[in-house]
Amino acid sequence: MTSTDHRQRFYIDNSPVRGDIVHINTALETILQQRTYPNAIALMLGEMLAAAALLATTLKFSGRLSLQAQGSGDLKWVMAECTDQGELRGLADWDSEADLSHLHTSADALAALTDAVLFINIEPKDGERYQGIVPLEEQTIAACLAQYYDLSAQVPTQISLACDGQHAAGLLIQLLPRTSDEEQEHVDEDLWPRLTILTQTMTPKELIELPASEILHRLYHEEDVRLPESEPLQFGCTCSRERCIEALIQVGQAAVEEILATDDEIEMDCQFCNTAYRFGPVEAMALFGLRVS
Ligand SMILES: [Zn+2]
Repeated sequence: MTSTDHRQRFYIDNSPVRGDIVHINTALETILQQRTYPNAIALMLGEMLAAAALLATTLKFSGRLSLQAQGSGDLKWVMAECTDQGELRGLADWDSEADLSHLHTSADALAALTDAVLFINIEPKDGERYQGIVPLEEQTIAACLAQYYDLSAQVPTQISLACDGQHAAGLLIQLLPRTSDEEQEHVDEDLWPRLTILTQTMTPKELIELPASEILHRLYHEEDVRLPESEPLQFGCTCSRERCIEALIQVGQAAVEEILATDDEIEMDCQFCNTAYRFGPVEAMALFGLRVS
């Protein structure tokens, strides 16, 4: 069993194929401790965290990538985020009155998101945000995301995701566009179909339990697989007192005064990490250039 959380990039040498394998254990435990999750929702959240960690490798700048599945059924939304530094956080919301006992798997949870939409949000620290919409036409998050990369990005992609409630893991493999130089070289046309079939032989249990090097050996031992150093993944929240201040300024003086008319202080809780930020009247009104005597 892999004991740390990390992301392992790999390349199939002399080919335009690259991939990543992620294992998320400690961070998943931390995230699932923030709320008491129904099992199926925890499984879906775990898979989405693995997916976010895989897709965040495409970030070429400092910022974050989030996946957000939204619906109008008993399950309202599931969100997973990963920064370029490998910091993960996630959260889900559902109707607490609803009976979710018929949901057992991640696919059940996905199906419970009535009229569901899956967004991919990319937020650079500086620069324009990007949002992609993933059609939820397949049975699993992995299949929906792979279809999105195939069709929207025109990059043939295979994705496997797994979560058992305590460990999450994922594997992504992509056939990148060839450069014109490479097109002149000998191209192994069978490579991608072969890799696709091999990738599909991995079971969720194997993906969770085996170290990345062993997964790669089992699947692709006939290819020359090159592994750079793995990168750490960990739980991390991007909330801060500064962000709360920005939010308070945004809601405006009148709304802040209304809260302070009934409460001694303003409390803002981050649901991702359960940190509470508190602002007394003096500090809150000073945000609007006002003094409280
Ligand atoms: Zn937080």
